[in-house]
Amino acid sequence: MKLKITKSSFVKSIVDIKDRPKPFLPEFAFAGRSNVGKSSLINCLLNRKNFAKVSKQPGKTRTINYFLINEDFYFVDLPGYGFARISGQEQRRWKQMIENYLLNNEYLKQIMVLIDLVVGPQKNDLQLIEWLRYNQIPFQIIGTKSDRISRNIREKQLKLVRQSFDLSEDVPIIPFSSKDRTGRAQVLALIAKLLPA
Ligand code: GDP
Repeated sequence: MKLKITKSSFVKSIVDIKDRPKPFLPEFAFAGRSNVGKSSLINCLLNRKNFAKVSKQPGKTRTINYFLINEDFYFVDLPGYGFARISGQEQRRWKQMIENYLLNNEYLKQIMVLIDLVVGPQKNDLQLIEWLRYNQIPFQIIGTKSDRISRNIREKQLKLVRQSFDLSEDVPIIPFSSKDRTGRAQVLALIAKLLPA
């Protein structure tokens, strides 16, 4: 099935899952380190420019942002992690907010975990993956900025992601570029597959 995005609008920013927008609909969440290319990826999927804010100040947005798509489901932009300049207390608050969202969400279909293919997998990426696994939350790994590296390096980085996260060969990783739109159709197809018929 092919998913066509016909409509997208920003709905609400929340810090607590109890404030999630109504009606309750399937949710697809996006997570990753600050600067991983999350806003660019969401903009690319939605065919919008400057919609999900392309972060000028990494780590500034500390809210969970809901976007309604086609009146059918939500994209949920989770605040970026791993920003060096935030305090330990703030990091703990971030962790609590995200964990609370992920653990109490029966509408969450999938969390897309974005890994920067230029930078490669980092310790906090691994921590997130291990936590998702432990809590049995379905995730899809997307490797971002694939246009910035050669095919050779891309293959190496994908292999490294696979090894670092202990993923078997049959677990797909989607290389993505918001510049040349690599991977866009694949991500939309995955979403279409997870939506109720
Ligand atoms: P966020 O902090 O995760 O939302 O990241 P942004 O979407 O703001 O992107 C961070 C930086 O990476 C910006 O300078 C983007 O222009 C750049 N960027 C994001 N995605 C891509 C991509 O697919 N290819 C290239 N070449 N640059 C990208």
